[in-house]
Amino acid sequence: MPIAANDPTKKTWLNVSENSDFPIQNIPFGVFLTRDDIITIGTRIGDYAIDLGALHQLGYFKDIPLTDDIFLQDTLNDFISDGQKTWRLVRNRISEIFDASNDELKNNKGHREVVLFSMDEIEMQLPVQIGDYTDFYSSKEHATNVGTMFRDPENALLPNWLHIPVGYHGRSSTIVPSGTPIRRPLGQTIPNNSKSPVFGPSKLVDFELEMAFITTDANALGEPIPVSEAEDYIFGMVLFNDWSARDIQKWEYVPLGPFLAKNFASSISPWIVTLDALQPFKVESPEQSPEPLPYLRLTGNHSFDINLEVDIITESMKSTTVTKSNFKYLYWTMAQQLAHHTINGCKVNSGDMMGSGTISGPTPDSYGSMLELSWQGKNPIKLNDGSERKFIEDNDTVVLKGYCQTESIRIGFGEVSTKLLPALKTNK
Ligand code: CA
Repeated sequence: MPIAANDPTKKTWLNVSENSDFPIQNIPFGVFLTRDDIITIGTRIGDYAIDLGALHQLGYFKDIPLTDDIFLQDTLNDFISDGQKTWRLVRNRISEIFDASNDELKNNKGHREVVLFSMDEIEMQLPVQIGDYTDFYSSKEHATNVGTMFRDPENALLPNWLHIPVGYHGRSSTIVPSGTPIRRPLGQTIPNNSKSPVFGPSKLVDFELEMAFITTDANALGEPIPVSEAEDYIFGMVLFNDWSARDIQKWEYVPLGPFLAKNFASSISPWIVTLDALQPFKVESPEQSPEPLPYLRLTGNHSFDINLEVDIITESMKSTTVTKSNFKYLYWTMAQQLAHHTINGCKVNSGDMMGSGTISGPTPDSYGSMLELSWQGKNPIKLNDGSERKFIEDNDTVVLKGYCQTESIRIGFGEVSTKLLPALKTNK
């Protein structure tokens, strides 16, 4: 089925600013609370939130086989379950409704009033109920930097890294949407040169610049998803800040890997940009050597050119961009991650979320975490308000942004913005 919604020449009758992340070619999906306290599934064009539940009730999707309440839900899981063909029909139809040449909704004031909201009239929610969350570790630059700092520069990558998209099962209960503040976690850490741990607030809270993809029901228990089909089961992507407490991590991670250092919070951008909308931005992923095992082999372009940046806003409200990276630097592709995740028969459900791992680029100004940017705190980062950061301080706000750009079109993710609150008081 052609993706008519991606036509770069298409214009909309809605007013959209030139540098908007959300032109009519984007049509992301999200869930929001309206001014009338109703939760609905919606999309966004420019600075308009569009109530898809209302559009469906008014008959605008009558030619697409959809259940009556598909958009009157507080998560996208059922819609995502309907599969790629339905996502395409709905995205193409939305594109048609808002096309500059279509007067149907444009000239119906009554309908427009119940369908369109300005962004300040709504509150974005988590777009899916996340059943399971997996985090990969797929940036060679990031894995090399961390291996160099914590182990041995000569053997920075462990022997499995170039053969396996390494990952671990995280926790979905603490994934929150943009705008939800989080707390500095408490935990056990081991002071330098000490044999006994201490308890208290983490001193080394960090962001991880990641993206995450969201899957549909893809397979039955016991059945792998072939790497060549894996992208068909990916609904879309969000920005993902995988908050990390480096000092807790260092003490706890042997031998089973990340635990409490990683599961206190992860923050996502609220609009899921579909993989369909990202098709014009497909690029080659880095060359893989040694060649992966056959079940992970895939030719052609399977990465995406997505510009990424992280800003820190301090209490003085001054903002500093601390890094610029790109999704295309990742060594392992999403298709390889999903094929690997299911090669043992692991079942993947609608709404599952898979983090990419920290996305570091090749140069020091493109690293995806403070751990790397400040090189374990040895090189503090200067901020625009004159202060310095080794890691994230209380009341700092961390903002991740991402967008794709060609000469004719820009498709963006908006942002995920999260304030770090001080730790809860403790009597030890
Ligand atoms: Ca991570």
